[in-house]
Amino acid sequence: MPDHRKLGRELNLFDSDPLIGAGLPYWLPDGAIIRHELEEYVRAAEIRAGYQHVYSPVLAKRELYERSGHWAHYREDMFPPMDLGGEQVVLRPSLCPHHALIYRSRAHSYRELPLRMAELGGMYRAELSGVLGGLTRVRAIQLNDAHLFCTPDQVAAETAGALALIREAYAALDIQDARYRLSLPGPGGKYVADPELWQRASAVLREVLDESGLDYEAVEGEAAFYGPKIDVQILDSAGRESTLSTVQVDFYQPEQFDLHYIGADGGKHRPVMVHRSVIGSVERAVAHLIEGHGGAFPAWLAPRQVAILPISAAEEPAAHDLLGQCRAAGLRAEVISAGEGSLGARVRNARLVPYQAVLGAREVAEDRVALRLRDGRRLDAMPVAECLRRVRAVVEAHSPRLWDNA
Ligand SMILES: [Zn+2]
Repeated sequence: MPDHRKLGRELNLFDSDPLIGAGLPYWLPDGAIIRHELEEYVRAAEIRAGYQHVYSPVLAKRELYERSGHWAHYREDMFPPMDLGGEQVVLRPSLCPHHALIYRSRAHSYRELPLRMAELGGMYRAELSGVLGGLTRVRAIQLNDAHLFCTPDQVAAETAGALALIREAYAALDIQDARYRLSLPGPGGKYVADPELWQRASAVLREVLDESGLDYEAVEGEAAFYGPKIDVQILDSAGRESTLSTVQVDFYQPEQFDLHYIGADGGKHRPVMVHRSVIGSVERAVAHLIEGHGGAFPAWLAPRQVAILPISAAEEPAAHDLLGQCRAAGLRAEVISAGEGSLGARVRNARLVPYQAVLGAREVAEDRVALRLRDGRRLDAMPVAECLRRVRAVVEAHSPRLWDNA
């Protein structure tokens, strides 16, 4: 497995600058395309699954994190507070407290639940500079986060729904090496109190995992401070394990923030908060995709989807015409001119591009295109319109496969 830091630089996906600082990478244009596609994929999947998106600020008063418990349980991972006009504000270590406040800002009836609130938002972690590198350990994190506010009866279905979204995303991203873990509290950990709530939450997660048919391992000592969770674990090129996706059942934050909904009986009831992330942090997800695919991304994520290769200078005008048609069809394409080397050399240089369109005199005369797929397959020449339609169909389906028949 290649190291994403090396490959990311070679492929011009991201970089960093000592003047910006350690753990604060920036995204180059090709990396920004991957990130954008990934974010749009998740947003669309969430909307299909009935989520509503919000935006909330990346910092807040210290008191907010005292209330949420982060200040007591998580302070060494937080940036130091900034003094501002007699108050202290902190870069947020998570989005949960903001979403709890957004929920609390309006009255809710049981008819609105489950209320699924999502945000792709920034959060910050004061990692020590010794452990920073590439996209896997960063100080500024873009998190695909959501909170499902629901009745106790809805927790199992909401947890199962979140797990289904994760599995759907892993299929589209062609991530096959993930392992599922039930993360339980361990002895001596710093967890918030009430063992009865912990047992209820753990039992729900275990039941959902058992019904999903997934292989999983229960591990003590890996829970969040406020509740147990299902974690989806991946390995990086150095063999280090980390969590990409997560589903957590939380009875604690709704108490801390005094959240409620009006039940069918007209009385106030406490909702449960399910925290979930489908792709985790965008940084870690892209690092894993770079390493897992060696730079050969699924077509929908590839910075360039079609490489257009005119055999000689005579086909150059037709190549640029095809470029325009690709762009009009919403595909990312580029022309690699005959002047840039032999056809064989250009095909090799474009080896990470999913589709290579070779244009010779005959294809141009017939308005056809002969497609080579990244995996070495060569397709018979077909009309340009049909070719673009079929490539577009693979991309729109977020298919991990390159062609519709295989
Ligand atoms: Zn949360």
